[in-house]
Amino acid sequence: MMADSHRLPCTSRLLLSLAVGVMRTASSVAASGDAPPGKIAVIGAGIGGSSVAHFLQQHFGPHVQLDVYEKDTVGGRLATVTVNKQQYESGGASIHSLNLHMQDFVKLLGLKHRREVAGKSAVFSGEQFVLEETDWYLLNLFRLWWHYGMSFLRLQMWVEEVMEKFMRIYKYQAHGYSFSRLEELLHSLGGDAFVNTTQRSVAESLLEVGITQHFIDDVIVAILRASYGQSVLVPAFAGAMSLAGAQGNMWAVEGGNKLVCSGLLKLSKANIIQATVTAISLHNSEGKNFYQVHYEDEEGQGSSFYDIVVIATQLHDKKSNITFQNFDPPIAEFPGTFHTTITSIVHGYLNSSYFGFGDPKLFPFTSVLTTDSPALFFNSMDNIYPVNVSSTFRRKQPQEAAVWRVHSQRPLEKQELKMLFRSYYSVQVTEWQAYPSYESSKTLPPIVLQDNLYYLNSMEWAASSMEMAAVAAKNVALLAYNLWYHDLDKIDQKDLMHKVKTEL
Ligand SMILES: Cc1cc2nc3c(=O)[nH]c(=O)nc-3n(C[C@H](O)[C@H](O)[C@H](O)COP(=O)(O)OP(=O)(O)OC[C@H]3O[C@@H](n4cnc5c(N)ncnc54)[C@H](O)[C@@H]3O)c2cc1C
Repeated sequence: MMADSHRLPCTSRLLLSLAVGVMRTASSVAASGDAPPGKIAVIGAGIGGSSVAHFLQQHFGPHVQLDVYEKDTVGGRLATVTVNKQQYESGGASIHSLNLHMQDFVKLLGLKHRREVAGKSAVFSGEQFVLEETDWYLLNLFRLWWHYGMSFLRLQMWVEEVMEKFMRIYKYQAHGYSFSRLEELLHSLGGDAFVNTTQRSVAESLLEVGITQHFIDDVIVAILRASYGQSVLVPAFAGAMSLAGAQGNMWAVEGGNKLVCSGLLKLSKANIIQATVTAISLHNSEGKNFYQVHYEDEEGQGSSFYDIVVIATQLHDKKSNITFQNFDPPIAEFPGTFHTTITSIVHGYLNSSYFGFGDPKLFPFTSVLTTDSPALFFNSMDNIYPVNVSSTFRRKQPQEAAVWRVHSQRPLEKQELKMLFRSYYSVQVTEWQAYPSYESSKTLPPIVLQDNLYYLNSMEWAASSMEMAAVAAKNVALLAYNLWYHDLDKIDQKDLMHKVKTEL
């Protein structure tokens, strides 16, 4: 059996493991005398909230009532804006090919990967391009080697090592294992050194494996400014996730990434309640906690009772304005702030002279990253294409009007827009509380706030992305299930690599 399963391709092995997980889930319910929970609330309908609704339904079964509260729009930080009747991603845009939960969701929902349209990137220092991609793979490699020696190879090896360890989570989850603390989860993936990747900076880790300061200043800084909008002081784990994305193999969902959220909510048959949750109060009956969720909607105030509550939005910075009542001791405020990223979607003519190209026809790049220079007022800009790409779609020529997504720390002033664009038809600005400001706190928040009360977005403080939200969602659903049915052998287990190898 072991030998056979080793011969299976990776995805088949994962499917087999998933099947084993599902069988085990059903048998432990049968063995347990506990009644299933009656009602579960999820607060927030972003990718975290919608995927946890799906996983909760999968584990607890179709008879549990699932209510998902959303104060704004389904999708949260996955959102689009419309330019000329076409939609463009304005929030979370790209997904790595090894993000297996996102891949599974797309398959499950019958969605498709959007067709990729090739383009070239470059790093701009405010005065000149310090690194330019060409059409030739070998020439790109040669240039990297010429400028930075072996650093790019060392980077690739370091990122691969982190990713390989991170991907163990899929096996653990397929076998039903869950974690009550982020530290336990990270430890199971790669021991103390892996936990430490959330405490030390990416710069420190890269210097340690022999990557030069020159490479960090030109390349790593640019990638982190484009992804998290932050410096190389972000923790190594979050940094590695961003750097993995910069190595290519990225995709997006045809029709828009937010379709995953609406699709999962529909599949889970959750009731979507359009309301702002204002408070959660704790009650106890016969030694068991239950919760009253207080909300405000168009008709006024209301509340409902639940056995289990999952908070799938940020609690830091009081962003969600949820208060906790009757908790003794009270739920402490979480240290740390969120990082603001401004997305400006501009439909206009690029001012290529600003980048040193007098003739707009000769501007070769579709993506401009930046180094950390006081002269620069933006972090990155990309010539983007719509969420629906037909087979006949072609990118605009550089001299034509195109849609650009500019990321900056603060709203762009008119003269700054005029520097980047000769002229423009429209500018649509979104101010995001995009990611944790990683330098503001190194504390990993709890996953369990109280019995049967879970905080899904604590995961963002390890790294923030769609897939991390989905991984956190699967963990919370498994943890809620394992705790509800007292399956303690499935929580915070040590030596899981060995256990999952011998379990099949
Ligand atoms: C500009 C930008 C670019 C990004 N690029 C990428 C990328 O390329 N790839 C990637 O993987 N990730 C990217 N991300 C990160 C990714 O989008 C997020 O990590 C992910 O979408 C977070 O999902 P979530 O469900 O945890 O939170 P959210 O999407 O924030 O969802 C939380 C939801 O809760 C709701 N809510 C809040 N408070 C309440 C309340 N009191 N009552 C009811 N509802 C409430 C909110 O309205 C929201 O819909 C990007 C993010 C931004 C902002």
